[in-house]
Amino acid sequence: MNYFTEEKHYNTLNNYLRDRFGSKVFKIALNGDFTCPNRDGTISKAGCIFCSDQGSGEFGGRHSDSLEMQFNSIKEMMHSKWKDGLYIVYFQSFSNTYGPIKKLRKIYNDALGLDKDIIGLNIGTRPDCFNDDIYALLQELNEKTYLTVELGLQSMHDETLIKINRGHDRKTFVETVKILRKLGIDVVVHIINGLPGETEAMMIETAKFVNALDIQGVKIHMLYILEDTPLAKLYAQKPFPLLTLKEYADITVKQLTYLNDKIIIHRITGDPDRSQLIEPMWTLKKFIVANEIDKIMRKNNLYQGINCRSENHE
Ligand code: SF4
Repeated sequence: MNYFTEEKHYNTLNNYLRDRFGSKVFKIALNGDFTCPNRDGTISKAGCIFCSDQGSGEFGGRHSDSLEMQFNSIKEMMHSKWKDGLYIVYFQSFSNTYGPIKKLRKIYNDALGLDKDIIGLNIGTRPDCFNDDIYALLQELNEKTYLTVELGLQSMHDETLIKINRGHDRKTFVETVKILRKLGIDVVVHIINGLPGETEAMMIETAKFVNALDIQGVKIHMLYILEDTPLAKLYAQKPFPLLTLKEYADITVKQLTYLNDKIIIHRITGDPDRSQLIEPMWTLKKFIVANEIDKIMRKNNLYQGINCRSENHE
């Protein structure tokens, strides 16, 4: 089954959640005051070159507020636009499985207990932030709620992962996906288009690669340059070409055609913080980007998955 519409020729998260839970579902990003081994010095202090001091979670709650305060203020904001809905609590900033098991158990359970209408838990993290205790905890949580684990990959190409100072390789990512899937946990993969040195063919290969794994969702982002990041410094010293909106839309459409029609597209473009954004400014126009993608798909009668072949890159 797919969740395509006349308007959207791919599975949007919104349509999927509505179908599964029979209601609008809001994702509420909470800040659990985590850090990341790629920033705290365990792997590196520099972080991924694009990562800001918000740890790739620009729109979550404030870490100084309790989970309850964060949840309630975001919930209120959501309901000023939509009347009814259910909630997924989402730990987004930094690496949200990176911490002592006691803290993880408490924070996930506390978050799930914030409201009777919370139907899911979404945890964003790196593929190298797991151990047996964490897997066991996730398995437990998966039995009582709709759990999704979001893993950053960004690119399937190890040379790019080195260039962006990811601090893990593709193999680690594949191993983690396999374990999570063995436990029956839904996996959502983050990929970035427009990374330095990447060609269109490389980005499409990344889409084909994630399609060949047993994953349930994908988030596709455009690379953007935020202030006070290593990428901003690199760009100031030696500006490199960034994708135009049209190029991004064309590449993303091609990627969608290589993602099978069971995969849910959690994001089709990124959402930079305006106050920190250096380039490309078009990434602020989220709806225009999504419309451009829809237009190309409709005009060319393209659908998610139409070019999909099962390819195994392991
Ligand atoms: S893994 Fe995430 S939080 Fe850590 S440095 Fe990279 S983008 Fe930032």
